[in-house]
Amino acid sequence: MGKTKKYCYGICLFSSVVINILFSINLYLGGGALQRGEKKHEIVYRPSLTWSEKAAADAEAVAAISCSGHGRAYLDSLISDGQTVCECYTCYGGIDCSEFSPGCSADADSGDPIFLEPFWMQNAEKSAIVVSGWHRMSYSYADYTSMSSMSLEVEKYIRKIHSLVGNAITEDRYLVFGIGSSQLLSAAVYALSSQNSSSPSNVVATIPYYPMYEAQTLFFNSEDFQFKGDTTSWKLNNATNNMDVIEFVTSPNNPDGELKTSVLGGKTIYDHAYFWPHFTPIPAPSDHDFMIFTLSKLTGHAGARFGWAVIKDKDAYEKVSRYITVADLGISKDTQLRVLKLLKVAVEGDGKQLFKFAYDKMRQRWDRLTSVFSKSTRFSIQKRDPLHCNFFNETRLPSPAYAWVKCEREEEDDCRAVLEAGKIIGRTGSTYNVKDRYVRLSLIKSQDDFDLLMLRLTELVSLENGNFESI
Ligand code: PMP
Repeated sequence: MGKTKKYCYGICLFSSVVINILFSINLYLGGGALQRGEKKHEIVYRPSLTWSEKAAADAEAVAAISCSGHGRAYLDSLISDGQTVCECYTCYGGIDCSEFSPGCSADADSGDPIFLEPFWMQNAEKSAIVVSGWHRMSYSYADYTSMSSMSLEVEKYIRKIHSLVGNAITEDRYLVFGIGSSQLLSAAVYALSSQNSSSPSNVVATIPYYPMYEAQTLFFNSEDFQFKGDTTSWKLNNATNNMDVIEFVTSPNNPDGELKTSVLGGKTIYDHAYFWPHFTPIPAPSDHDFMIFTLSKLTGHAGARFGWAVIKDKDAYEKVSRYITVADLGISKDTQLRVLKLLKVAVEGDGKQLFKFAYDKMRQRWDRLTSVFSKSTRFSIQKRDPLHCNFFNETRLPSPAYAWVKCEREEEDDCRAVLEAGKIIGRTGSTYNVKDRYVRLSLIKSQDDFDLLMLRLTELVSLENGNFESI
Protein backbone atom coordinates (compact mmCIF):
# COMPACT_ATOMS: atom_id res chain seq x y z
CA MET A 1 0.00 0.00 0.00
CA GLY A 2 2.74 2.45 1.09
CA LYS A 3 4.75 1.54 -1.99
CA THR A 4 1.79 2.11 -4.35
CA LYS A 5 1.12 5.51 -2.75
CA LYS A 6 4.76 6.61 -3.21
CA TYR A 7 4.67 5.39 -6.83
CA CYS A 8 1.48 7.38 -7.41
CA TYR A 9 3.05 10.57 -5.93
CA GLY A 10 6.07 10.07 -8.19
CA ILE A 11 3.94 9.86 -11.34
CA CYS A 12 1.87 12.88 -10.29
CA LEU A 13 4.97 14.99 -9.60
CA PHE A 14 6.59 14.00 -12.90
CA SER A 15 3.41 14.75 -14.91
CA SER A 16 2.99 18.09 -13.17
CA VAL A 17 6.58 19.11 -14.02
CA VAL A 18 6.13 18.04 -17.66
CA ILE A 19 2.81 19.89 -17.96
CA ASN A 20 4.33 23.05 -16.48
CA ILE A 21 7.30 22.93 -18.84
CA LEU A 22 5.01 22.43 -21.85
CA PHE A 23 2.73 25.23 -20.68
CA SER A 24 5.65 27.63 -20.29
CA ILE A 25 7.08 26.74 -23.70
CA ASN A 26 3.65 27.22 -25.16
CA LEU A 27 3.26 30.68 -23.62
CA TYR A 28 6.73 32.00 -24.35
CA LEU A 29 7.29 30.59 -27.79
CA GLY A 30 4.14 31.61 -29.43
CA GLY A 31 1.33 29.18 -28.76
CA GLY A 32 -0.20 31.09 -25.80
CA ALA A 33 -3.66 32.52 -25.61
CA LEU A 34 -2.21 36.04 -26.00
CA GLN A 35 -0.54 35.23 -29.28
CA ARG A 36 -1.77 37.44 -32.14
CA GLY A 37 -0.52 35.61 -35.18
CA GLU A 38 1.10 32.52 -36.51
CA LYS A 39 3.90 33.99 -38.58
CA LYS A 40 7.27 34.74 -37.06
CA HIS A 41 7.28 38.48 -37.85
CA GLU A 42 3.92 39.17 -36.26
CA ILE A 43 3.77 40.63 -32.77
CA VAL A 44 3.65 38.09 -29.98
CA TYR A 45 2.52 39.61 -26.70
CA ARG A 46 4.33 38.19 -23.71
CA PRO A 47 2.37 37.46 -20.58
CA SER A 48 4.57 39.73 -18.51
CA LEU A 49 6.87 42.61 -19.41
CA THR A 50 10.62 42.47 -19.01
CA TRP A 51 12.78 45.50 -19.81
CA SER A 52 9.92 47.96 -20.35
CA GLU A 53 8.24 47.39 -17.00
CA LYS A 54 10.37 49.86 -15.04
CA ALA A 55 10.08 52.53 -17.77
CA ALA A 56 6.30 52.15 -17.85
CA ALA A 57 6.12 52.32 -14.04
CA ASP A 58 8.28 55.47 -14.03
CA ALA A 59 6.10 57.11 -16.69
CA GLU A 60 2.92 56.37 -14.75
CA ALA A 61 4.43 57.45 -11.43
CA VAL A 62 5.48 60.85 -12.75
CA ALA A 63 2.18 61.38 -14.58
CA ALA A 64 0.35 60.64 -11.31
CA ILE A 65 1.98 63.62 -9.55
CA SER A 66 -1.00 65.99 -9.43
CA CYS A 67 0.80 69.34 -8.91
CA SER A 68 -2.60 70.39 -7.45
CA GLY A 69 -4.01 70.42 -10.98
CA HIS A 70 -2.11 73.69 -11.64
CA GLY A 71 1.08 72.31 -13.13
CA ARG A 72 2.70 69.18 -14.51
CA ALA A 73 5.60 66.91 -13.68
CA TYR A 74 7.44 65.18 -16.49
CA LEU A 75 9.99 62.40 -16.76
CA ASP A 76 12.62 65.00 -17.59
CA SER A 77 11.57 67.61 -15.00
CA LEU A 78 14.15 68.82 -12.50
CA ILE A 79 14.87 66.57 -9.56
CA SER A 80 15.45 68.22 -6.20
CA ASP A 81 16.12 66.28 -2.99
CA GLY A 82 15.21 63.12 -4.85
CA GLN A 83 11.77 64.51 -5.77
CA THR A 84 10.49 65.46 -9.22
CA VAL A 85 9.82 69.19 -9.26
CA CYS A 86 6.35 70.33 -10.41
CA GLU A 87 6.35 72.83 -13.31
CA CYS A 88 3.59 75.23 -12.32
CA TYR A 89 1.27 77.09 -14.69
CA THR A 90 1.45 80.88 -14.77
CA CYS A 91 0.21 82.49 -11.55
CA TYR A 92 0.66 79.30 -9.51
CA GLY A 93 3.66 78.46 -7.33
CA GLY A 94 4.81 76.49 -4.33
CA ILE A 95 6.20 72.99 -4.25
CA ASP A 96 2.90 71.49 -5.45
CA CYS A 97 1.64 74.52 -7.46
CA SER A 98 -1.14 75.09 -4.93
CA GLU A 99 -0.32 78.75 -4.26
CA PHE A 100 -2.15 81.24 -6.45
CA SER A 101 -0.69 84.76 -6.72
CA PRO A 102 -3.80 86.92 -6.34
CA GLY A 103 -2.62 89.97 -8.31
CA CYS A 104 -1.21 87.95 -11.16
CA SER A 105 -1.78 88.96 -14.79
CA ALA A 106 -3.52 86.62 -17.23
CA ASP A 107 -0.95 85.64 -19.85
CA ALA A 108 -2.65 85.33 -23.24
CA ASP A 109 0.47 85.99 -25.25
CA SER A 110 1.76 82.75 -26.72
CA GLY A 111 -0.02 80.29 -29.01
CA ASP A 112 0.86 77.27 -26.88
CA PRO A 113 -1.92 74.76 -27.68
CA ILE A 114 -2.31 73.23 -24.20
CA PHE A 115 -6.13 73.25 -24.53
CA LEU A 116 -5.89 69.72 -25.95
CA GLU A 117 -4.02 68.28 -22.97
CA PRO A 118 -7.21 66.88 -21.35
CA PHE A 119 -7.99 64.94 -24.55
CA TRP A 120 -4.65 63.18 -24.38
CA MET A 121 -5.12 62.47 -20.68
CA GLN A 122 -8.44 60.84 -21.54
CA ASN A 123 -6.61 58.80 -24.17
CA ALA A 124 -3.59 58.00 -22.01
CA GLU A 125 -3.45 54.32 -22.86
CA LYS A 126 -3.74 54.77 -26.61
CA SER A 127 -1.28 57.63 -26.90
CA ALA A 128 1.61 56.44 -24.70
CA ILE A 129 4.76 55.10 -26.30
CA VAL A 130 7.58 52.95 -24.91
CA VAL A 131 10.83 52.66 -26.84
CA SER A 132 13.85 50.47 -26.40
CA GLY A 133 17.30 52.00 -25.93
CA TRP A 134 18.15 50.79 -29.43
CA HIS A 135 15.06 52.21 -31.13
CA ARG A 136 15.96 53.42 -34.67
CA MET A 137 19.53 54.45 -34.05
CA SER A 138 20.12 54.82 -37.76
CA TYR A 139 19.87 58.09 -39.73
CA SER A 140 17.49 56.38 -42.09
CA TYR A 141 14.61 53.96 -42.39
CA ALA A 142 15.38 50.69 -44.10
CA ASP A 143 13.05 51.22 -47.05
CA TYR A 144 14.45 52.72 -50.19
CA THR A 145 11.14 53.50 -51.80
CA SER A 146 10.83 57.04 -50.42
CA MET A 147 13.14 59.57 -48.84
CA SER A 148 14.56 57.17 -46.31
CA SER A 149 14.39 59.70 -43.48
CA MET A 150 10.59 59.85 -43.60
CA SER A 151 8.38 57.16 -42.08
CA LEU A 152 6.04 55.69 -44.68
CA GLU A 153 3.55 54.84 -41.94
CA VAL A 154 3.43 58.46 -40.78
CA GLU A 155 2.97 59.57 -44.37
CA LYS A 156 0.08 57.13 -44.74
CA TYR A 157 -1.67 58.48 -41.64
CA ILE A 158 -1.17 62.10 -42.69
CA ARG A 159 -2.85 61.38 -46.02
CA LYS A 160 -5.58 59.52 -44.15
CA ILE A 161 -6.38 62.36 -41.75
CA HIS A 162 -6.57 64.86 -44.63
CA SER A 163 -8.95 62.61 -46.48
CA LEU A 164 -11.11 62.07 -43.35
CA VAL A 165 -11.26 65.77 -42.54
CA GLY A 166 -11.54 66.82 -46.18
CA ASN A 167 -9.24 69.81 -45.68
CA ALA A 168 -6.57 69.08 -48.31
CA ILE A 169 -6.06 67.10 -51.47
CA THR A 170 -3.05 64.83 -51.01
CA GLU A 171 -3.52 62.37 -53.90
CA ASP A 172 -0.67 62.65 -56.41
CA ARG A 173 1.11 65.14 -54.14
CA TYR A 174 4.50 64.87 -52.49
CA LEU A 175 4.90 65.13 -48.73
CA VAL A 176 7.95 66.46 -46.91
CA PHE A 177 8.32 66.53 -43.12
CA GLY A 178 9.95 69.40 -41.26
CA ILE A 179 11.00 70.35 -37.75
CA GLY A 180 7.73 72.09 -37.05
CA SER A 181 6.06 73.91 -39.90
CA SER A 182 8.42 76.78 -39.07
CA GLN A 183 11.23 75.02 -40.87
CA LEU A 184 9.05 74.36 -43.89
CA LEU A 185 8.12 78.04 -44.22
CA SER A 186 11.71 78.94 -45.00
CA ALA A 187 12.22 75.77 -47.04
CA ALA A 188 9.20 76.82 -49.13
CA VAL A 189 10.58 80.30 -49.79
CA TYR A 190 13.91 78.76 -50.81
CA ALA A 191 12.20 76.25 -53.10
CA LEU A 192 9.97 78.80 -54.84
CA SER A 193 12.56 81.54 -55.19
CA SER A 194 14.17 81.94 -58.56
CA GLN A 195 17.74 80.92 -57.98
CA ASN A 196 20.18 82.00 -60.69
CA SER A 197 18.07 85.07 -61.38
CA SER A 198 19.73 88.50 -61.34
CA SER A 199 17.15 89.93 -58.90
CA PRO A 200 15.81 88.32 -55.73
CA SER A 201 12.25 86.96 -55.47
CA ASN A 202 9.92 89.20 -53.46
CA VAL A 203 8.22 87.64 -50.45
CA VAL A 204 4.90 89.19 -49.39
CA ALA A 205 1.94 88.51 -47.06
CA THR A 206 -1.34 90.25 -46.29
CA ILE A 207 -1.62 92.37 -43.14
CA PRO A 208 -2.19 91.49 -40.38
CA TYR A 209 0.34 88.69 -40.98
CA TYR A 210 2.25 86.14 -38.92
CA PRO A 211 5.63 87.79 -38.15
CA MET A 212 7.73 84.68 -38.73
CA TYR A 213 7.57 85.11 -42.54
CA GLU A 214 9.37 88.41 -42.32
CA ALA A 215 11.70 87.33 -39.50
CA GLN A 216 12.92 84.25 -41.38
CA THR A 217 13.36 86.02 -44.70
CA LEU A 218 15.43 88.75 -43.04
CA PHE A 219 17.37 86.30 -40.90
CA PHE A 220 18.42 84.03 -43.76
CA ASN A 221 19.49 87.13 -45.67
CA SER A 222 19.66 85.35 -49.02
CA GLU A 223 20.57 86.74 -52.41
CA ASP A 224 17.63 84.82 -53.82
CA PHE A 225 14.74 86.39 -51.87
CA GLN A 226 13.80 89.51 -49.91
CA PHE A 227 10.80 90.46 -47.75
CA LYS A 228 8.56 93.12 -49.28
CA GLY A 229 5.72 93.39 -46.77
CA ASP A 230 2.01 93.71 -47.47
CA THR A 231 0.38 92.37 -50.64
CA THR A 232 -2.01 95.31 -51.09
CA SER A 233 0.75 97.93 -50.94
CA TRP A 234 2.85 95.74 -53.21
CA LYS A 235 0.03 95.63 -55.75
CA LEU A 236 -0.40 99.42 -55.64
CA ASN A 237 3.30 100.11 -56.09
CA ASN A 238 4.11 97.42 -58.61
CA ALA A 239 0.93 97.20 -60.67
CA THR A 240 2.77 97.50 -63.93
CA ASN A 241 5.80 95.37 -63.08
CA ASN A 242 5.67 91.70 -63.77
CA MET A 243 8.02 90.88 -60.90
CA ASP A 244 8.87 87.62 -59.25
CA VAL A 245 6.69 87.33 -56.12
CA ILE A 246 6.12 84.60 -53.51
CA GLU A 247 2.95 85.18 -51.49
CA PHE A 248 2.25 83.69 -48.07
CA VAL A 249 -1.46 83.01 -47.63
CA THR A 250 -2.32 82.17 -44.03
CA SER A 251 -5.69 80.49 -43.91
CA PRO A 252 -7.16 80.69 -41.31
CA ASN A 253 -5.10 83.74 -40.56
CA ASN A 254 -2.99 84.30 -37.49
CA PRO A 255 -3.94 86.67 -35.75
CA ASP A 256 -7.56 87.26 -36.86
CA GLY A 257 -8.75 83.77 -37.93
CA GLU A 258 -9.96 84.82 -41.40
CA LEU A 259 -10.02 82.30 -44.23
CA LYS A 260 -7.74 83.98 -46.75
CA THR A 261 -7.13 83.57 -50.45
CA SER A 262 -4.30 84.83 -52.60
CA VAL A 263 -4.29 88.55 -53.40
CA LEU A 264 -1.70 88.47 -56.19
CA GLY A 265 -2.47 85.08 -57.71
CA GLY A 266 1.14 84.14 -58.48
CA LYS A 267 3.40 81.73 -56.61
CA THR A 268 1.79 80.98 -53.24
CA ILE A 269 2.60 79.21 -49.98
CA TYR A 270 -0.61 78.29 -48.16
CA ASP A 271 0.08 78.19 -44.43
CA HIS A 272 -2.76 75.98 -43.14
CA ALA A 273 -1.57 75.68 -39.53
CA TYR A 274 -5.12 76.37 -38.30
CA PHE A 275 -7.12 74.71 -41.08
CA TRP A 276 -8.66 72.08 -38.81
CA PRO A 277 -12.29 71.69 -37.70
CA HIS A 278 -11.63 72.94 -34.16
CA PHE A 279 -10.78 76.42 -35.45
CA THR A 280 -12.79 76.82 -38.63
CA PRO A 281 -15.60 75.19 -40.58
CA ILE A 282 -14.00 73.22 -43.44
CA PRO A 283 -15.80 74.44 -46.58
CA ALA A 284 -13.79 72.39 -49.11
CA PRO A 285 -10.46 70.61 -49.42
CA SER A 286 -7.57 72.95 -50.11
CA ASP A 287 -6.04 72.21 -53.48
CA HIS A 288 -3.05 74.50 -53.77
CA ASP A 289 0.43 73.91 -55.17
CA PHE A 290 2.19 74.35 -51.85
CA MET A 291 0.41 73.76 -48.53
CA ILE A 292 1.94 73.62 -45.06
CA PHE A 293 0.44 71.98 -41.95
CA THR A 294 1.63 71.42 -38.39
CA LEU A 295 1.06 68.90 -35.66
CA SER A 296 1.24 71.79 -33.16
CA LYS A 297 -2.25 73.02 -33.95
CA LEU A 298 -3.73 69.67 -35.00
CA THR A 299 -3.09 67.53 -31.91
CA GLY A 300 -1.60 70.28 -29.70
CA HIS A 301 1.89 68.73 -29.59
CA ALA A 302 3.91 71.85 -30.33
CA GLY A 303 6.81 70.42 -28.32
CA ALA A 304 7.19 67.50 -30.74
CA ARG A 305 8.24 70.00 -33.45
CA PHE A 306 6.65 68.36 -36.46
CA GLY A 307 5.12 69.79 -39.61
CA TRP A 308 4.58 68.72 -43.20
CA ALA A 309 4.32 70.23 -46.63
CA VAL A 310 1.98 68.96 -49.35
CA ILE A 311 3.55 69.83 -52.70
CA LYS A 312 2.27 69.46 -56.25
CA ASP A 313 5.35 70.24 -58.28
CA LYS A 314 8.23 67.74 -58.43
CA ASP A 315 10.93 70.39 -58.74
CA ALA A 316 9.65 72.27 -55.66
CA TYR A 317 9.42 68.97 -53.76
CA GLU A 318 13.03 68.12 -54.57
CA LYS A 319 14.23 71.53 -53.45
CA VAL A 320 12.35 71.29 -50.13
CA SER A 321 13.73 67.78 -49.56
CA ARG A 322 17.21 69.03 -50.26
CA TYR A 323 16.72 71.92 -47.82
CA ILE A 324 15.70 69.50 -45.05
CA THR A 325 18.62 67.21 -45.82
CA VAL A 326 21.19 69.98 -45.83
CA ALA A 327 19.70 71.67 -42.75
CA ASP A 328 19.49 68.59 -40.54
CA LEU A 329 19.69 65.24 -42.35
CA GLY A 330 15.99 64.61 -41.79
CA ILE A 331 13.54 64.65 -38.92
CA SER A 332 13.93 62.89 -35.56
CA LYS A 333 12.81 59.24 -35.73
CA ASP A 334 11.65 59.48 -32.11
CA THR A 335 9.35 62.34 -33.06
CA GLN A 336 8.00 60.42 -36.05
CA LEU A 337 7.14 57.47 -33.82
CA ARG A 338 5.26 59.80 -31.48
CA VAL A 339 3.47 61.43 -34.41
CA LEU A 340 2.39 58.02 -35.67
CA LYS A 341 0.94 57.06 -32.30
CA LEU A 342 -0.93 60.37 -31.99
CA LEU A 343 -2.30 60.26 -35.52
CA LYS A 344 -3.58 56.73 -34.97
CA VAL A 345 -5.68 58.11 -32.11
CA ALA A 346 -6.66 61.18 -34.14
CA VAL A 347 -8.14 59.09 -36.98
CA GLU A 348 -10.15 56.86 -34.63
CA GLY A 349 -13.90 57.12 -35.15
CA ASP A 350 -13.16 58.87 -38.46
CA GLY A 351 -11.60 61.74 -36.54
CA LYS A 352 -14.85 62.58 -34.75
CA GLN A 353 -13.48 62.04 -31.20
CA LEU A 354 -10.54 64.42 -31.42
CA PHE A 355 -12.27 67.08 -33.48
CA LYS A 356 -15.47 67.00 -31.45
CA PHE A 357 -13.51 67.41 -28.23
CA ALA A 358 -11.35 70.18 -29.68
CA TYR A 359 -14.25 72.03 -31.32
CA ASP A 360 -16.43 71.82 -28.19
CA LYS A 361 -13.60 73.24 -26.11
CA MET A 362 -13.02 76.12 -28.54
CA ARG A 363 -16.76 76.84 -28.90
CA GLN A 364 -17.20 76.96 -25.10
CA ARG A 365 -14.31 79.40 -24.89
CA TRP A 366 -15.77 81.58 -27.65
CA ASP A 367 -19.20 81.55 -25.99
CA ARG A 368 -17.68 82.87 -22.75
CA LEU A 369 -15.52 85.38 -24.61
CA THR A 370 -18.35 86.82 -26.72
CA SER A 371 -20.57 87.09 -23.67
CA VAL A 372 -17.96 89.31 -21.94
CA PHE A 373 -17.26 91.44 -25.05
CA SER A 374 -20.98 91.90 -25.74
CA LYS A 375 -21.13 94.05 -22.57
CA SER A 376 -18.35 96.33 -23.76
CA THR A 377 -18.26 99.36 -26.01
CA ARG A 378 -14.64 100.03 -25.15
CA PHE A 379 -13.33 96.81 -26.69
CA SER A 380 -14.46 94.82 -29.70
CA ILE A 381 -13.40 91.50 -31.23
CA GLN A 382 -13.39 90.20 -34.80
CA LYS A 383 -16.68 89.43 -36.51
CA ARG A 384 -17.29 85.77 -37.25
CA ASP A 385 -19.51 84.60 -40.08
CA PRO A 386 -21.11 81.15 -40.17
CA LEU A 387 -20.02 78.73 -42.87
CA HIS A 388 -20.87 75.20 -43.86
CA CYS A 389 -18.44 72.65 -42.45
CA ASN A 390 -18.15 69.56 -44.64
CA PHE A 391 -16.49 67.61 -41.86
CA PHE A 392 -19.23 68.12 -39.25
CA ASN A 393 -21.83 68.46 -41.98
CA GLU A 394 -23.45 71.55 -40.51
CA THR A 395 -23.23 75.31 -40.68
CA ARG A 396 -21.32 76.76 -37.77
CA LEU A 397 -19.31 79.74 -36.59
CA PRO A 398 -15.53 79.65 -36.72
CA SER A 399 -13.80 79.38 -33.33
CA PRO A 400 -10.36 80.86 -34.02
CA ALA A 401 -7.31 80.24 -31.90
CA TYR A 402 -6.97 83.95 -31.11
CA ALA A 403 -9.21 86.86 -30.22
CA TRP A 404 -8.26 89.92 -32.25
CA VAL A 405 -9.18 92.74 -29.89
CA LYS A 406 -9.62 96.37 -30.85
CA CYS A 407 -9.59 99.28 -28.40
CA GLU A 408 -12.43 101.49 -29.65
CA ARG A 409 -11.78 104.68 -27.68
CA GLU A 410 -10.00 107.30 -29.79
CA GLU A 411 -7.41 108.07 -27.13
CA GLU A 412 -6.59 104.41 -26.42
CA ASP A 413 -4.27 103.76 -29.33
CA ASP A 414 -1.93 101.51 -27.36
CA CYS A 415 -4.35 98.70 -26.65
CA ARG A 416 -1.68 96.38 -25.27
CA ALA A 417 -0.90 98.95 -22.55
CA VAL A 418 -4.62 99.36 -21.77
CA LEU A 419 -5.02 95.60 -21.35
CA GLU A 420 -1.79 95.32 -19.41
CA ALA A 421 -3.10 97.87 -16.92
CA GLY A 422 -6.07 95.53 -16.54
CA LYS A 423 -3.67 92.63 -15.86
CA ILE A 424 -3.94 91.02 -19.27
CA ILE A 425 -0.89 90.23 -21.36
CA GLY A 426 -1.51 90.12 -25.09
CA ARG A 427 0.49 90.57 -28.29
CA THR A 428 0.39 94.04 -29.78
CA GLY A 429 -0.87 94.85 -33.29
CA SER A 430 2.47 96.13 -34.62
CA THR A 431 3.83 92.57 -34.26
CA TYR A 432 1.45 91.82 -37.18
CA ASN A 433 2.26 95.06 -39.01
CA VAL A 434 -0.95 96.87 -38.06
CA LYS A 435 -1.76 99.57 -35.49
CA ASP A 436 -1.23 99.00 -31.78
CA ARG A 437 -4.93 99.70 -31.40
CA TYR A 438 -5.19 95.92 -31.91
CA VAL A 439 -4.05 93.15 -29.58
CA ARG A 440 -4.02 89.38 -30.08
CA LEU A 441 -5.19 87.24 -27.15
CA SER A 442 -4.48 83.52 -27.20
CA LEU A 443 -7.46 81.25 -26.49
CA ILE A 444 -5.67 77.91 -26.81
CA LYS A 445 -3.66 77.80 -23.62
CA SER A 446 -4.50 75.78 -20.50
CA GLN A 447 -7.89 75.99 -18.78
CA ASP A 448 -6.25 77.84 -15.87
CA ASP A 449 -4.86 80.46 -18.25
CA PHE A 450 -8.20 80.83 -20.01
CA ASP A 451 -10.19 81.07 -16.77
CA LEU A 452 -7.90 83.79 -15.47
CA LEU A 453 -8.17 85.64 -18.80
CA MET A 454 -11.97 85.56 -18.47
CA LEU A 455 -11.75 86.85 -14.90
CA ARG A 456 -9.49 89.76 -15.87
CA LEU A 457 -11.57 90.63 -18.95
CA THR A 458 -14.75 90.58 -16.86
CA GLU A 459 -13.15 92.89 -14.31
CA LEU A 460 -11.97 95.22 -17.07
CA VAL A 461 -15.33 95.38 -18.83
CA SER A 462 -17.19 95.91 -15.57
CA LEU A 463 -15.01 98.98 -14.98
CA GLU A 464 -16.40 100.72 -18.06
CA ASN A 465 -18.78 103.71 -17.77
CA GLY A 466 -16.40 106.16 -16.19
CA ASN A 467 -14.33 103.93 -13.97
CA PHE A 468 -11.57 103.14 -16.43
CA GLU A 469 -9.05 105.60 -14.94
CA SER A 470 -8.68 103.37 -11.93
CA ILE A 471 -7.16 100.47 -13.83
N1 PMP B 1 2.23 79.20 -39.10
C1 PMP B 1 1.40 79.87 -38.29
C2 PMP B 1 0.36 80.73 -38.91
C3 PMP B 1 1.56 79.79 -36.91
O1 PMP B 1 0.73 80.48 -36.12
C4 PMP B 1 2.56 78.96 -36.37
C5 PMP B 1 2.75 78.80 -34.87
N2 PMP B 1 2.23 79.69 -34.05
C6 PMP B 1 3.40 78.30 -37.25
C7 PMP B 1 3.20 78.42 -38.60
C8 PMP B 1 4.56 77.46 -36.75
O2 PMP B 1 4.18 76.35 -36.06
P1 PMP B 1 5.15 75.13 -35.75
O3 PMP B 1 6.55 75.52 -36.08
O4 PMP B 1 4.93 74.83 -34.31
O5 PMP B 1 4.69 74.03 -36.63
